[in-house]
Amino acid sequence: MLHIQENINIGDSTTMKSPSIARYFFEVREESQLEDAFSFAEEHSLKHLILGGGSNIVFPAGCFEGIVLKISLLGIYEEEDVLVGLAGENWDNFVQKGIEVGVCGIENLSGIPGTVGATPIQNIGAYGVEVREIISWVDVFNIETKKVERIQNAECNFGYRDSFFKKPEGKKYIVLRVGFLKKESCQVSVLYKDLKTYFESRSLKDVIPSDVRKAVLSIRMNKFPDLDTCGTSGSFFKNPIISKDHYKKLQDSFEDIPGYEVGVEKIKVPLAWVLDHVCNLKGYEEGNVKLFEQQPLILVTNRKADANEIKSFSEKIKKIVFTKTNIEIENEVVIF
Ligand SMILES: Cc1cc2nc3c(=O)[nH]c(=O)nc-3n(C[C@H](O)[C@H](O)[C@H](O)COP(=O)(O)OP(=O)(O)OC[C@H]3O[C@@H](n4cnc5c(N)ncnc54)[C@H](O)[C@@H]3O)c2cc1C
Repeated sequence: MLHIQENINIGDSTTMKSPSIARYFFEVREESQLEDAFSFAEEHSLKHLILGGGSNIVFPAGCFEGIVLKISLLGIYEEEDVLVGLAGENWDNFVQKGIEVGVCGIENLSGIPGTVGATPIQNIGAYGVEVREIISWVDVFNIETKKVERIQNAECNFGYRDSFFKKPEGKKYIVLRVGFLKKESCQVSVLYKDLKTYFESRSLKDVIPSDVRKAVLSIRMNKFPDLDTCGTSGSFFKNPIISKDHYKKLQDSFEDIPGYEVGVEKIKVPLAWVLDHVCNLKGYEEGNVKLFEQQPLILVTNRKADANEIKSFSEKIKKIVFTKTNIEIENEVVIF
C-alpha cells in the first residue's frame, strides 16, 4: 500500500522556492514501489514529474494536477571497477566517497547541489569536468515496460548540459542508480582558470584530488547567492555555442567578446559576459525576479515568483540577447 500524499506545497522542495502545489506526491524509497506508483498514475490518468533534490527544477504555477515522485533511493556500494550511487543519494556526499575510492575527476564536481540520479540527466559540469567523463553506466526503470535496464555511457548521448534522458525518447526512464568508473591512479585536472589561480603557488605534482575538492568548495562558496534567503537554481541559461562565422561577426562589434573552441567549427560564448557587457543586464530586476549582480547567468528571486513570472522574465532576457547578438539562448533549468 503506497502512502500517497495530497495537495503538497512542492515549491518548498526546490531551491527556487517557487509557489506550486502537487495534487499527489509520493516519496519513492524502494525500487519496488515504482511499479505501484505508476500503476496508480495510470489508473487515475495522471501526468507525473520526477523530483530529485529540486536544485534544477521549477514546478508549474498554481496546482500541478498530477503526481510528483520524489526519488529517495539511498545507498552507495563498490563493485570491481565502479562506485555505485543510488539515485536519491546526496551528490556532494557521493563525491567525497568517490575521491576516497579513486573516481578520478569527481573532485571537480564538488559542491554541486542535488542527487546522484539527476547528474546524468543534465550531464552536470564544473571546473573543467563533466560527469559524462566518469559515468560508466546508468540503471533505469522503464515506465512503459516496468522493467529495469542498463544504459551504457555511449548510449546516453551526452552533450553540454544535455543527454538522451532530456529527449522525448529518454523521458520514459527513471534513473535508479549510476556506476562511476574507478581508476588505479588519478591525475588531477586543474586547467580551469579559477583552479589554476588557486594552485599557482604550488607544484602541481603535489596536488591530490582532495586538495582540488577543497579548492572547488572554497571557490564556489563566494560565487552563488545565499540559498537560505533567496530562490535560485544556479545558472538559469546555458552558455550558447555558436558558429565561428557568427562569432567573428560579433567580434566586429564587441572586440573583447570571449569565446572557447568547441570541436572544429563551434565557439562557446560565456553568456554572463554578454549579459553584462553587451546587454547591460547585470542585476536587472523586474517584479520578484532578477539577474544576480555577481554572476548574471544566475537568476534569483525573493521566493515569491512562480513559474509563469520566471518564464516571462527569462523570455524577455532571451529577446534582448537575440536582438543585440542574434544568439538564441536556451534554459539550463527545467521549468514547467
Ligand atoms: C546554487 C546552485 C549551483 C549549481 N551549480 C551547478 C554546477 O556547477 N554545474 C551544474 O551542472 N549544475 C549546477 N547546478 C544545477 C543542479 O544542481 C544540477 O542540475 C543537479 O544535478 C540537479 O540535481 P537535483 O537532484 O536537484 O535534480 P532536480 O532539480 O530535482 O531535477 C532536475 C531534472 O532531473 C530530473 N530527475 C531528477 N532525478 C531523476 C531521476 N532519478 N530519474 C529521472 N529524472 C530525474 C527531474 O525530473 C528534472 O527534470 C546548480 C544549482 C544550484 C541551485
